Amino acid sequence: MTIKIDYKKCCWRDGKCSSCSCGGKCVGCVEACPIGALTRKKKLEVDTEKCINCGACVIACKHGALSLE
Ligand code: SF4
Ligand code: SF4
Repeated sequence: MTIKIDYKKCCWRDGKCSSCSCGGKCVGCVEACPIGALTRKKKLEVDTEKCINCGACVIACKHGALSLE
């Protein structure tokens, strides 16, 4: 299994949060990941070498942008 990012649902775009519901700062997947495999760069990126498929980020994302497939 690997983490799949749905960039249409992810509110982190062009290096900033585009959501109208979280005060301009997305908190969720990156903070939930126990091994730091996710990074908010220009867009959200996952280091698939590091990821242990724990699913914590999937649960933490309020926008349903992540899935384990
Ligand atoms: S918590 Fe969800 S919306 Fe926010 S950066 Fe992560 S995947 Fe994107
Ligand atoms: S599945 Fe777990 S290890 Fe992988 S990116 Fe999500 S929180 Fe991090």
